[in-house]
Amino acid sequence: MKKEVIMIKLGEIALKGLNRKTFEDTLVKNIKWRLRGVGKFSVTRAQSTMYIEPKEDDIDFEEAVEHLQKVFGIAAFTRALVTEKELSCIQKDAVEYMKDVLPYAKTFKVTAKRADKKFPLTSPQIQQELGGVLLEAYPHLKVDVHHPEVTVTIEVRDFGAYIHAKQLPGAGGMPVGSSGKAMVLISGGIDSPVAAYMMAKRGLILHAIHFVSPPYTSDRAQQKVEDLCEIVSQYAGKITFHCVPFTKIQEAIKLHCPEEFFTIIMRRLMMEIAIRVSEENDLKALITGESLAQVASQTIGAIAATDEVCTMPVFRPLIGMDKNEIIEIARKIGTFETSILPFEDCCTVFTPKHPKTRPNLEQVRASQAAFDFAPLIEEAIQGIEVKTIAAL
Ligand code: ATP
Ligand code: MG
Repeated sequence: MKKEVIMIKLGEIALKGLNRKTFEDTLVKNIKWRLRGVGKFSVTRAQSTMYIEPKEDDIDFEEAVEHLQKVFGIAAFTRALVTEKELSCIQKDAVEYMKDVLPYAKTFKVTAKRADKKFPLTSPQIQQELGGVLLEAYPHLKVDVHHPEVTVTIEVRDFGAYIHAKQLPGAGGMPVGSSGKAMVLISGGIDSPVAAYMMAKRGLILHAIHFVSPPYTSDRAQQKVEDLCEIVSQYAGKITFHCVPFTKIQEAIKLHCPEEFFTIIMRRLMMEIAIRVSEENDLKALITGESLAQVASQTIGAIAATDEVCTMPVFRPLIGMDKNEIIEIARKIGTFETSILPFEDCCTVFTPKHPKTRPNLEQVRASQAAFDFAPLIEEAIQGIEVKTIAAL
């Protein structure tokens, strides 16, 4: 019956009283989805631990661990060996299983947890017996009960004895799907993919909307954004991607509105379209990658002018972060290298030379009202291309 499993410690969801079962069901679904390319697994729960067991023989455990590290709702996880509830088996298998760990440590201790009270030895006795054989097998080791480099844990449970030593940090956060659904406005830049990741981490299922202005922007620029969505989907799960043809609207802004308001009016129109698409898809919030004062369109005044047209909450998880903090996350989640590829975003196509950092709302409204954008908005929405993006 010897086999390897992965034990998962739940994150914040362990705290969520009544909703706990729904949270856990969501997490189980997400784990299975994330592991679908690795192999077949069963997921079972006991207290605040989940057990992931392979149902096939030739499972690549390293790969499974890599995938699980990107599932939100997991605080920590551990690879463990399950063996028979016999002291001799536990001793023999622990010596063997720790051969990748104990030769490289100087100090260790054994912790035993006896959940199955029918097991004949007490926890201190198990510690003693197992510690003894480990010391024999790895004679360079010293026992240190206070600050051991390695703690070998043995848990005697109903279905077997679990041996493990290395706990790895999980992705944290809440299971995707436990907080509802939202729309991220995604560009090819560094910031919005990070914003998407951060809100998926709080449990949101993501749709993404991207505005393109061919021929000013290229197919490769759009491809880059789809690539970014695919990287984010390793964490966020399936992303529904909406690509909006925005050329005519941008040309109309350029033709009919004062240059100093180009960007703000463009952002208001982006928001209007994003809200329309969100409503059609039952999404309850927008997400952007804005950070206060990073550029002219991200001042309080400019954000107020954008928010004026928003009839649903706008989440800006990066609002208080410095660029280098954002870049650090972008590197960690793997979007940075793609984000810095040099393709034009539609925002940069018609940037005004002197954008207003403190736009007067009356003037913005009046400038936008000088042209009837409604038909172009309809046309843009009709022209949206939708696809599902999902990393394996
Ligand atoms: P990013 O790095 O995300 O591009 P940024 O610092 O370049 O952000 P802006 O270009 O001003 O900032 O864009 C601000 C936000 O507007 C972006 O974070 C994104 O949410 C949204 N946005 C910008 N361009 C687009 C686009 N072409 N399609 C969809 N959303 C966009
Ligand atoms: Mg940008």
